[in-house]
Amino acid sequence: MKKEIKKDKKLRLATIWLDGCSGCHMSFLDIDERLLLLAEKVDVVFSPLVDVKEFPEDVDITLVEGALGSEEDLHKLMKIRPRTKTLVAFGDCAITANIPSMRNPFGTEETLNYVYLEMGADNPQIPMQGVPPLMKRALPLHNYVKVDVFIPGCPPSADTIFFAVSELIEGRVPDLSTYTRFGA
Ligand code: SF4
Repeated sequence: MKKEIKKDKKLRLATIWLDGCSGCHMSFLDIDERLLLLAEKVDVVFSPLVDVKEFPEDVDITLVEGALGSEEDLHKLMKIRPRTKTLVAFGDCAITANIPSMRNPFGTEETLNYVYLEMGADNPQIPMQGVPPLMKRALPLHNYVKVDVFIPGCPPSADTIFFAVSELIEGRVPDLSTYTRFGA
């Protein structure tokens, strides 16, 4: 981990999704009533789950769901990294690029043509506004920034997430070997 996490007050937790399906965030919510235990120890300062527009400074832990698929994703990640003590690749898309990388062998133009023109049922057209330019290939987070912790799974189970976040709150790197099939 990059720096010691302060234990004398509530930690500042952020979550964000990039090129992902939101399934990892849904699994986070499947922690259910244990969310209340986490809420005793963390303030959620940025997340799709809260209404904050600007990623804040001085975040202790950030869970990043999704691969880097667009230039906007990369811009967000480069902003998040220096503002975060412990950056977590949250789920297989963040770790390996997983599902988003299925487009990689075809290139952006062929992918856009297929999705928006060939598969477009009515009035097929490629949108020019409100859609950030795609990177040539979808890539995992660690291709661009240092990742401190990896939480694998598609999505990671609620138990895995709860254990990992609880350990991070206590300032420990989570040992996920009993939560993963090919653990150490
Ligand atoms: S790892 Fe799986 S569940 Fe998580 S964003 Fe990617 S596809 Fe969705």
